Amino acid sequence: MSKFRIRCWNKVLFLLHEIDIGYEIVSARPDPAKITVKWITFVGTKGLLKWALLKCPCGCGEVLNLSLMKNYEPNWVVKFDSKSRVTLSPSVWKNDGCRSHFFIRKGKVIWATA
Ligand SMILES: [Zn+2]
Repeated sequence: MSKFRIRCWNKVLFLLHEIDIGYEIVSARPDPAKITVKWITFVGTKGLLKWALLKCPCGCGEVLNLSLMKNYEPNWVVKFDSKSRVTLSPSVWKNDGCRSHFFIRKGKVIWATA
């Protein structure tokens, strides 16, 4: 899907309350100031995603840099379903600052309890 189509489709899913977080894929790392809380920015190409950048959904404003490359520890695996919803695994657990712990499954932020 083109960048434009991904964005349009994500907007439809937002309207239907099917997702909390949409995504876009860019080839070069963007200015962190451009990362917004509703969008995951993947850096790379559809076939080879290298980084996932997202703003912490707790509202603390921190930009999280998640590696999708297996030679980096820790790293995450991203999946897109047929509706173009993002699932990241494992969960994201910040060990400093706000200490948020959450999952992103099918475009929804799911807070971990405990
Ligand atoms: Zn936070």
